[in-house]
Amino acid sequence: MSPEQQHKITADKLVIRNVGLMLSGDLARPVLDADAIIVLDGRIAAVGMATDLDLAGATSVIDAQGCVVTPGLIDNHVHPVAGDWTPRQNQIGWIDSTLHGGVTTMISAGEAHYPGRPKDIIGIKALAIAAQRSFANFRPSGMKIIAGAPVLEPEMTENDFRELADAGVTLIGEVGLGGVKDGPTGRQMIAWARKYGMTSMTHTGGPSIPGSGRIGADVVLEVDADVVAHINGGPTALPDEEIRRLCEESTRALEIVHNGNLRTGLFVLGIAKDRNILDRVILGTDGPAGSGVQPLGILRTICHLASLGDVPTEVAFCFATGNTARVRKLDDRGIIEAGRAADLVFMDQAAGGIGKDFLESLALGNLPGIGMIMVDGVVRTARSRNTPPAIRVPQIITA
Ligand SMILES: [Zn+2]
Repeated sequence: MSPEQQHKITADKLVIRNVGLMLSGDLARPVLDADAIIVLDGRIAAVGMATDLDLAGATSVIDAQGCVVTPGLIDNHVHPVAGDWTPRQNQIGWIDSTLHGGVTTMISAGEAHYPGRPKDIIGIKALAIAAQRSFANFRPSGMKIIAGAPVLEPEMTENDFRELADAGVTLIGEVGLGGVKDGPTGRQMIAWARKYGMTSMTHTGGPSIPGSGRIGADVVLEVDADVVAHINGGPTALPDEEIRRLCEESTRALEIVHNGNLRTGLFVLGIAKDRNILDRVILGTDGPAGSGVQPLGILRTICHLASLGDVPTEVAFCFATGNTARVRKLDDRGIIEAGRAADLVFMDQAAGGIGKDFLESLALGNLPGIGMIMVDGVVRTARSRNTPPAIRVPQIITA
């Protein structure tokens, strides 16, 4: 789709109708009794049955053709470096490709792969601020990239966290990737970060890249960051007894990643189900990594958990949308409800597979097909170039 066509769809009043199934992203009510959405200036203005909404005066109309609509997916764990390039696999275009996997927001877990990454304090702060700025300004196909996640070193002081927050940095990279690997230091620094409004995560499991360390349950629990990052290993998972302690003794988010240990991920999901703490489960890819770049990584993880973990598909979607938005304090996205950004993914069952409909095909382990992706009310893709073809795709009808 050309930029000209994309911008034609930036409607003052956009009406989406004929939605076959509306998945809200909200764990409290994952399926909405709704078949239409009204979008005003990029934000959702109303959601409901078309018969109850004022659809008149639309500048653009999208006929969803019975497709499923979900919130744009959020990848809670990526390692960006600069622009749409990763040195990890020397690959270009991975962010744009990830958008074609239905991800409309990605969150940095640390710019850890930056070549020659500085480890002195002024250098750490400079890199974090530069990454925050450049990715805020750089949006391939509309992707929202929240970056600037400093990797902590022991010499940092409270003043450094205050300065970073004042400069617009909202994240802390995985504790354990840098020189801070012990509980007491990590706990102090994460408390400072929290005081200044930043969200944070702790690397969990065996070492990932040279310089990172094994971070076990004792340290993760003591540091008490907002997210137990890749609780199923990044990529090496802790023993099950330690995983169980993290689920039971921590109150923080439990992040299951694509590039981790799937068996451990299912173990975490089982505990979360038994303890009724599914609101703490969030998803990431942890890419780019040794395992590569996974444009469909979030969709695949949803599909894995729905098909092997015995959770309803509509609930698995909440792990990568509403749950993550809440944990990351992104109350402007992640759920289909009035007031939030119109970041929407139109999907259907992939052609030619098992299952009678979208929900059943995912529950049986097949990826869905994406027919359209919208970010802030702007149509950014028609049929995804990465998913298998959906049976039905939406049609744009200019009113
Ligand atoms: Zn990690």
